[in-house]
Amino acid sequence: MARVRNASILASFLLVGTATASPAQPPFKPAKAGVDASKPDVLPILKLTQVSFDAALAALTRQDNRAARDHLRKAREQAEKALKTNPASRDAAVGLGMIFFYEGVAGDRRGYERASDWLQKVVNADPDAGQGYQYLAHAYGRQNRMHETIVNASLALTLLTDTASIRDLTQLKNGFQDVFLKNWYEYGQYYESPAAKLTRINAQNNYAIELVAQITPQFEQDLAAKGLQALGPTLQISQDAPTKQYLQKLVDKLLAKSPGGPPFTYTVDVVESPAVNAMAFPGRILVNTGLIRFCESEAELITVLSHEIAHVYAHHSARALQSNWQKQQVAATILQAANINNSNLKEQLITLGASVGLELLARGYSRNEEKEADKYGTHLAFNAGYNPTLMTKFFLRLYEANPRQPFKWLSTHPPTTERIEYTTAYLEAFPLEQEMQLDSQEFKDLKARLK
Ligand SMILES: [Zn+2]
Repeated sequence: MARVRNASILASFLLVGTATASPAQPPFKPAKAGVDASKPDVLPILKLTQVSFDAALAALTRQDNRAARDHLRKAREQAEKALKTNPASRDAAVGLGMIFFYEGVAGDRRGYERASDWLQKVVNADPDAGQGYQYLAHAYGRQNRMHETIVNASLALTLLTDTASIRDLTQLKNGFQDVFLKNWYEYGQYYESPAAKLTRINAQNNYAIELVAQITPQFEQDLAAKGLQALGPTLQISQDAPTKQYLQKLVDKLLAKSPGGPPFTYTVDVVESPAVNAMAFPGRILVNTGLIRFCESEAELITVLSHEIAHVYAHHSARALQSNWQKQQVAATILQAANINNSNLKEQLITLGASVGLELLARGYSRNEEKEADKYGTHLAFNAGYNPTLMTKFFLRLYEANPRQPFKWLSTHPPTTERIEYTTAYLEAFPLEQEMQLDSQEFKDLKARLK
């Protein structure tokens, strides 16, 4: 976890900050090219700021938070004065952010938030402010905002060259990156959570909330089987054993590298279809020959499979059924119209769920579900040793291949600017500098065979 840089390192920075107590109206205006940002000279004010700041750090070292806050308040006033005198002073702007940060250290609960709000504005206006990113990373770290911490630490590392900063930032970044890469999966306790329970209110029993059904792995698998049954007649399953074996091996590898997901054993089938598409269900994965033909590398294929499997990891079908049920839209109808009893309740829920699931397939997942699958998909691909950035490249390539009549997969997975942007931003937190697998001889052989 983040450790605050110690006082001696800090004290070596010419420090200081900005305008008013509220960073809402930033007076910081970085100098335009060709303008001398050192004029008017704010050095005398910054030196006074530094004196108060040093005194605050000394107070923090002896754990006197009250004294620290007093000194920080003085430092802040000086910093604001400096920034009013010269709104182009980077030292003043970054310094103010540092003061906000240490107000957080001194026990002011909003300090870290003020620091990140302010410093975010500073680096937006002045993208070369290395130290601005450094304290922004620390401020986000203290708020446990993993992704922002990693990304800003990386940016600071590209700008700062002194040994102390590099050590500080590397330590901060690595700590958060480890957590980011380990804790991406949020549904480890799904079956025990309220989201896996279908309940109803019993008007005959004091409006007690009664459990109607519990979603279990078996339930999800039955749901998938029912959906597949409806889909079945339209599918032409390929009998090409080597292709099937290759895909099965790929999927097994993917799943083995991301343990903790739903406990399904997946069977992979190859579907003879020119449509660029793949579908994953609890226990079953369908891959179209059209997708394999379109993919240029094994890594590209992996990112598509990862995305589809991610929908299963996130329990999207079961969650859609549960939310539909809880909205009572279908529940009331079924319960009243069919007058069901408990012995056939499960059967009816499965039928209901299958239609909800088929509707999902037809209309596509919601934007939030897609976002979740994109997020989990990048981790699944990365965990298996593949470069997850190929996913966004795949979207674009697919779109460019036929922008007028998008492929089926694109109609449910549009490569919107928003999607490319959030995925690209998310990917910035991965250690992508390490070597990752791109292709395999087996994939090339497969492509040659499918020609
Ligand atoms: Zn999707």
